[in-house]
Amino acid sequence: MRAIDVRDLLENPGASRTVRVQEPVPGLRTELADVPEDAPIAADLTLESVVEGIYVRGSLEGRFVLRCARCLKAFERDFDVEMTELVAREPGPDDDYALAPDLTLDPEPIVRDAVVLEMPFSPLCRPECLGLCAICGGDRNLGECPGHERIDPRWEALGVLLEDLSGSPDHDD
Ligand SMILES: [Zn+2]
Ligand SMILES: [Zn+2]
Repeated sequence: MRAIDVRDLLENPGASRTVRVQEPVPGLRTELADVPEDAPIAADLTLESVVEGIYVRGSLEGRFVLRCARCLKAFERDFDVEMTELVAREPGPDDDYALAPDLTLDPEPIVRDAVVLEMPFSPLCRPECLGLCAICGGDRNLGECPGHERIDPRWEALGVLLEDLSGSPDHDD
């Protein structure tokens, strides 16, 4: 994202203005969520000059491409994230963001952090998604699983053991 020149604001504490940003932010990706690089994040950011620096306020709009944590189907969902952050002029240990030495403000780190917090950890295509069958891998939403009883793993192990015994070459009968 392009840096915003805020020198005019810094000279007038209490003053504010709104800037429109609409740019893609690369690298916003987790295992099951992605903000595609061709989908810009848009926001009207209100920049307010305070003694400590510039307050940035606004709501970020964009689109997630998600993969369902249960059935792995890809789907999309729009997001709208509210944020308010201070970009400090002389950052102390508690300040997350700072103005650049040339007194410009780079909105990208603030936007990135706010969107990352909003990315779903375990997205679902719909709340009642049935997911994939653990045995045959069929999509149970599509009725791809014929429906089978799961064999108790202890019996399964015993079955293998019995097969081994009967098939053993030392076994003379
Ligand atoms: Zn699903
Ligand atoms: Zn199945």
